[in-house]
Amino acid sequence: MENLTDINVIKALMKKHGFEFSKSLGQNFLINPSVCPKIAEQGNAKSSFGIIEIGTGIGVLTAELAKRADKVVAIEIDNRLIPILEDTLSDFENVKIINTDILKTDLSKIIDENFKGLDVAVCANLPYYITSPVIMKLLESRLRIKSVTVMVQKEAGKRLCAEMGTRDMGAVTVAVNYFSEPKILFNVSRGSFMPSPNVDSCVVRFDLKEETPKGVEDEKFFFKVARGAFSQRRKTLANSVSSSMGIDKELVINAIENAGLLPTVRPEQLSMEELINFSNTLKSISNL
Ligand code: SAM
Repeated sequence: MENLTDINVIKALMKKHGFEFSKSLGQNFLINPSVCPKIAEQGNAKSSFGIIEIGTGIGVLTAELAKRADKVVAIEIDNRLIPILEDTLSDFENVKIINTDILKTDLSKIIDENFKGLDVAVCANLPYYITSPVIMKLLESRLRIKSVTVMVQKEAGKRLCAEMGTRDMGAVTVAVNYFSEPKILFNVSRGSFMPSPNVDSCVVRFDLKEETPKGVEDEKFFFKVARGAFSQRRKTLANSVSSSMGIDKELVINAIENAGLLPTVRPEQLSMEELINFSNTLKSISNL
């Protein structure tokens, strides 16, 4: 098999298939040979697992996943890459390539059709322009997935994996912590990609929880409150929620106090339990 992290091999494949990188599709391919084996090993690519890969590029990570897992379903939006993948992955009988947009894909159908009797994990070097929607889709859909291991921009990784109650957190931190145990696995420098992006990256893993936190009376409302709370960073919880959700400030302060918090509390100071209490209280006294 060809070495898919070798720049000359990549250039030859591109020339042979008349392929040019698309910036708008986030096409930065991995050329650091140590990264893909690490993603595969730390991302549950092993016997008795089926792996969903998002964004295959020329198949550099796909190959490492296919060497270790029982089956890989690889989703790639760019049809120009399909003939290249048929070339580079021809040694693997356990890889299925699907030419589609991950955001329009019914993942539960993919899991039912391809991974009977197998545990399921997701691994990807994500196109950065859809990092958040892809992660939210994977977490919120309540699919039978054990873990999601993805390369993201370093700053995004910090926010995604921030602990509740710390300055780095945002609305996405709430969702991530609600559905999973997040962890930054390792950093990846910009020089590990071709073409090289302007920022460094990191690989994060979300181990999905079997049970989400107890006590949330209305999940949809809870996430609306979380988004509202972090919509205006550095404001107090009362100001942020009242202006973003259009609720009278006195009423929001009432809910904050009824939840046992100080009226001056900032959203980034809240624990998961405190945010749940506040959301439940706000719902009951605002009749929303
Ligand atoms: N896995 C390869 C690697 O590590 O070298 C490529 C990673 S590259 C950062 C992201 C890949 O995702 C590209 O191949 C791009 O075409 C693909 N992609 C972009 N948007 C996508 C979408 N909405 N659905 C599926 N694949 C997408």
